[in-house]
Amino acid sequence: MALSSFHAQTLSSLERRLGALRSGLSVSESALRLEKTGPNNLSEPRGVRWPKILLAQVTNPLMSILLAAFAVSVVFGDLADGTMIAIAILINVSVGFVQEFRAGRALDALRHFLVPVARVRREGRVIDLSADQVVPGDILLFSAGDRVSADARLILSERLEVNESSLTGESLPVEKFVKDLPPDTPMAERLNMVYAGSLVTHGRGEALVVATGMQTEIGKIAELLAKTRDERTPLQEQLGSMSRFLAAFYTLVALGIFVVGLSTGHAFVEMFLIAVALAVAAVPEGLSVAVTVVLAIGMQRMLKRKALVRNLVATETLGSVSVICTDKTGTITEASMKVVTIVTPDGTIDAPEFGTRECGMALARLLETAVLCNDAILDEDEDGQGQGSPTERALLSMAATFGFHKEGLERDYPRMAEVPFSSEYKFMLTAHEIKDDPLLLMKGAVERVLRASTHVLMGNRVRDLTEHQRQDLEERAAVLTQRGLRVLGFAYRPSNITELHIEHAKEMVFVGFLGLRDPVRKTAKSTIEKAARAGIRTVVVTGDHPRTAQAIAEEVGISSGSNHVVTGSEIDAMTQEALTANIKRYHVFARVEPAHKVRIVEAWKAQGETVAMTGDGVNDAPALKAADIGVALGAGTDVAQQAADMVLLDDNLDTIVSAVKEGRVIFENIRKVTLLVLLNGFAEMVLIFLALVFGLPVPLIVAQILFINFVTDGAPAIALTLEPSLERVMSRPPRDRREPLLTARLKGLVFGLATLLDIIPFLLFAWLLSGGVEVAHARTLMFAILSAATFVLVFSIRSYREPLWKSRVFENKTLVGSVVFGFMALLLAIYWPPLQTILDTRSLYLMDWAWLGMMVAVELCLIEGYKGLSFKMLRSAV
Ligand code: ADP
Ligand code: MG
Repeated sequence: MALSSFHAQTLSSLERRLGALRSGLSVSESALRLEKTGPNNLSEPRGVRWPKILLAQVTNPLMSILLAAFAVSVVFGDLADGTMIAIAILINVSVGFVQEFRAGRALDALRHFLVPVARVRREGRVIDLSADQVVPGDILLFSAGDRVSADARLILSERLEVNESSLTGESLPVEKFVKDLPPDTPMAERLNMVYAGSLVTHGRGEALVVATGMQTEIGKIAELLAKTRDERTPLQEQLGSMSRFLAAFYTLVALGIFVVGLSTGHAFVEMFLIAVALAVAAVPEGLSVAVTVVLAIGMQRMLKRKALVRNLVATETLGSVSVICTDKTGTITEASMKVVTIVTPDGTIDAPEFGTRECGMALARLLETAVLCNDAILDEDEDGQGQGSPTERALLSMAATFGFHKEGLERDYPRMAEVPFSSEYKFMLTAHEIKDDPLLLMKGAVERVLRASTHVLMGNRVRDLTEHQRQDLEERAAVLTQRGLRVLGFAYRPSNITELHIEHAKEMVFVGFLGLRDPVRKTAKSTIEKAARAGIRTVVVTGDHPRTAQAIAEEVGISSGSNHVVTGSEIDAMTQEALTANIKRYHVFARVEPAHKVRIVEAWKAQGETVAMTGDGVNDAPALKAADIGVALGAGTDVAQQAADMVLLDDNLDTIVSAVKEGRVIFENIRKVTLLVLLNGFAEMVLIFLALVFGLPVPLIVAQILFINFVTDGAPAIALTLEPSLERVMSRPPRDRREPLLTARLKGLVFGLATLLDIIPFLLFAWLLSGGVEVAHARTLMFAILSAATFVLVFSIRSYREPLWKSRVFENKTLVGSVVFGFMALLLAIYWPPLQTILDTRSLYLMDWAWLGMMVAVELCLIEGYKGLSFKMLRSAV
């Protein structure tokens, strides 16, 4: 079949068939093709979503109970209750529907936020474009860390290795070559092809795109990719099991009330409806939706702060982060590097003098190496911009001031082979053809380059590198690292090797080194202080030199003194136990390799900390996975982003801390909503139970219970999910991840206090009845008291950590609004004739309002008293 034969044709026939050129398609041609083939993405076979959500709303158990109750009330001609139940059903369905729909939409938007980028050659120029613009016939360029964006036939491979596990299930990377293969080669062995969705783990390559979008191999099994996991977060689990327990418990209690009511002479229908209404009011079925909403809103807030969180679990975990292991380049610094000084064996030049003096041989070779042993590209029009790492771009712009330009040099000295930079070896090696004398060029961490060198270019002559000279060079490099500069060394050797390996970095001729300054972000110091105040420790984990790292760490206030610094090789010498035991001493981890990062994460975790770890490279993926919160840089590789829980779109350390703050707010809000919902439900339950036990009429009728549940209690509960994020949450130490949503103190608040709170209005109810007050009138007062209590207590609950009068009471404007709204609704329910009919209420007198005010005041005092007492006990317990 034609489609799958791409691997078996010769390259030239394939090129003819696809109308492709090595210099790439023309811009107009690619636009035409895009029109014809459609965008290069997987169209998701997802249907319309709302019918499913609606169905879920209607079929939940609560709804079946309400529907049954509706049927019973209609059959027995109880139209007032029937109307109220119908309204409750409508409100419940529409609120649930709207919330779930919104949450789903928010999550979707996030899922599609990270548009991958592809690098292609068109009209001879290398450009980056959104991956969905790639068309068949394009020349695709990729290197370690990239995700391949279309199916393509290789035309160049520099030790290219690719992980195709999303396609073949094989988790080990496979090497890829430029060659022809027989037609019957199975998928997994088509070594001359790369496939969309696979990850480049090593080297680099160029390839001719043969299929895009749904035509790709991965497109054919698109369901596999499109499948999104619906995992539940620990909090959702906790709430789920609590809800199930409460549902069972309340059903039993409702059943008990039903039986007691019947035996004390209440009518069957009345008791049935009461039991149902109580179950509806008390069972916190709305909580799980509320939690999803809080999480989704939190994710959106984080996104506004440039933190893209990739799953709900992480949104929640973020709140308990206690250690942030951050990179140095880009997160703490601006990643806008500049070469400030160049040191050759012949002498030193500082930035202002660049390009003004005669070049000695060593300097010229250093500049050539800086340009040729370099994968970045500078845009000529915008200065400093371009593609590639900040380090390499800085080298190119520095060399340009000396008149060394990449285009010309690459034409004269074409690159024949390379060992790409890896953070494990910390150097890069390239081989070049230069008329009759081919060269190897090396650049990398200065001590690494010095170690590989046996000679030195000095006074225009190659000499042996003496021990004395080596020491002298090392000392001069140390002066630069102490200033917080990144120091790169350069060396070369004549050689005609075309198959390069790391072992070929030996017997090099050293030509010098240079220092790059990367200014510290202005916000870095205050961010680190903010984190420290919030009990979060920030440590630096970097591939850079220990002295450079320490200088920067001191500048931003992370460490003071070299005993806080540990290096990768020192970690190598430690057992994991020793590392764990000492981990809290270290503030700076320098010259680390990706493998060390995993050990560092494990050590912190063994100390009971919740760890966020940043990473950008291909090899950082395991560490990102191991961390509680893996943080990829927006400028990092696709591999890292894929493994991460969170992507920093602006690479800023401050963004991590902001996200942690939002995470804390999320937990607080979930806790507050839970407290309010449980307290309200339980209170109604107890009140009715007391009345039945003492043989009194029920203090609330069904319609009133439902009105309270869905209107006067409902609005403030929703408003609590929207509590703004306040600086206060960052003045406390991180929450222990194992701390339950409801601590014993909070359970006491909900269940103990609710019982106590109910006894007082109940006594009032009994007293009024015994004084000959009409039952409907006394009920109206109870109804008003329960509603009004919520309006006041909600403020006590949202400040559950501190006395009410110390909290800024009216901070949450939505909450204030919802309380005003609820109060209006309450007034209507009491005084507006149509609602009076449905709710069987009577107009209250001034005296009633005085009772109400007293009741609410007493309840407020009780709650605040309990809060005060438990603060005291907590403090003395510490
Ligand atoms: P980090 O990003 O944490 O500073 P890296 O792993 O990127 O650390 O770099 C580690 C070291 O490798 C640097 O200190 C530098 O000496 C060297 N290095 C960095 N980038 C390059 C490069 N493109 N080519 C050669 N050497 C490099
Ligand atoms: Mg780096």
